[in-house]
Amino acid sequence: QDNEQPIVLLMKQQLSKKMYELLLEIGSIADQQSVKIYLIGGIVRDFILQRPNEDIDLVVEGDGIAFANQLKKQLGGNVKSHEKFGTATWTTEENHKLDIVTCRTEYYDAPAALPNVRASNIREDLRRRDFTINAMALQINKRQFGKLLDFFQGQEDIQLRKIRILHTLSFIEDPTRIIRAVRFALRFQYELAEHTFELALNAVPMLKQVSAKRLLREFELLQKENVTLDAVTCLQSLGIWSTLFHREPNEHTMKKLSTIIKEMPHPFITFLTIAYGQKDWHVVIKPYALISEHNQMIEQLIKMEQIDIKNESLSSIHDQLHLFQDDVLYLFAQLTNDQKLLTYLQKRKQLNLLLSGKDLIDKGLNPGPDFSDLLHQLACLQLDEIIQTKDDAVTWLENKVAELPLD
Ligand code: ATP
Repeated sequence: QDNEQPIVLLMKQQLSKKMYELLLEIGSIADQQSVKIYLIGGIVRDFILQRPNEDIDLVVEGDGIAFANQLKKQLGGNVKSHEKFGTATWTTEENHKLDIVTCRTEYYDAPAALPNVRASNIREDLRRRDFTINAMALQINKRQFGKLLDFFQGQEDIQLRKIRILHTLSFIEDPTRIIRAVRFALRFQYELAEHTFELALNAVPMLKQVSAKRLLREFELLQKENVTLDAVTCLQSLGIWSTLFHREPNEHTMKKLSTIIKEMPHPFITFLTIAYGQKDWHVVIKPYALISEHNQMIEQLIKMEQIDIKNESLSSIHDQLHLFQDDVLYLFAQLTNDQKLLTYLQKRKQLNLLLSGKDLIDKGLNPGPDFSDLLHQLACLQLDEIIQTKDDAVTWLENKVAELPLD
């Protein structure tokens, strides 16, 4: 009779028949093994919201890894386990991936640090989660199949359209939840519950203690929702930007950002765009440059600030900038609203050199410094439209070769 619960209908609607039947089967195996097993996290929320979700997260009150191995024994497939975390991924014969973990409690030795874990029960496992809407579980043991555990009124918050943390220290324990809160609020068009908003506001300074890697990763997830501009505004209302970068994005910055993220949708670039313009922008952004490409970008942008191309011809701009990467020039042009630089960049990208290395070799030149110098000169002449045809280029090359000292 339990199977007539409305949530079971929603599960049936949203899961493939195969997956639904697999869950029934897993429930039976859990019964045999005398463990309680639950679907958990985003998928439970999404059944209720009737939104598609394929991520099957299962928790067992018992040994998650042993249970995954039991599934493999009875149903085939493969298990990859992480002993340290008590987690396993079971890949079925049909290549479905299911995550299976041991119910656990997390406890924090220090605010914003990574948590310690120990095995526990389902209630404890739900209690360590981020928001009420993400803290529901659906039991799938045979007799309780589809029994919803909702200790924290997640269903009610779905009705109320609220993102609500489970306890007052939540954001202090893990300040990245502030960014997660904004992510779910924007995805579902919910609001942060009043108290949750206040606690987020108070916890924002803690974000400075979160590693750049974690912060960028969480921001990347946010950015994947394609709501970056709203997210930036929302995070601004929480004071995140003034805390991290001593700067609030104004209307101008937002306009730039909307252009830049289309070409460069990386969270580092978003941070950079927000931080840019103040005297110490490179100092505040530096901790977030985790890959050499981003470090180089900072160095090149600093160099760009010393170059003035206002009254220069395209060729003399090319002389100064040919070693700068396209994306740095693009970014700098957008950040400083430099139309001339954008034009140069566009021309440079469209430039097709009229001579190739092979043409030079045919004229008896050997690859080396002269070689690349000649190609650079040709690029300059083409940018200034002094040379426009292959014939002109060949004639120019012949004169050049004649001028070269014989060796
Ligand atoms: P999505 O729909 O984006 O996959 P999700 O709810 O499945 O969202 P995940 O980031 O995949 O989110 O995390 C799975 C579950 O783990 C969440 O539903 C939440 O219960 C819990 N969780 C993840 N990150 C945290 C965190 N920083 N603090 C507390 N709980 C978290």
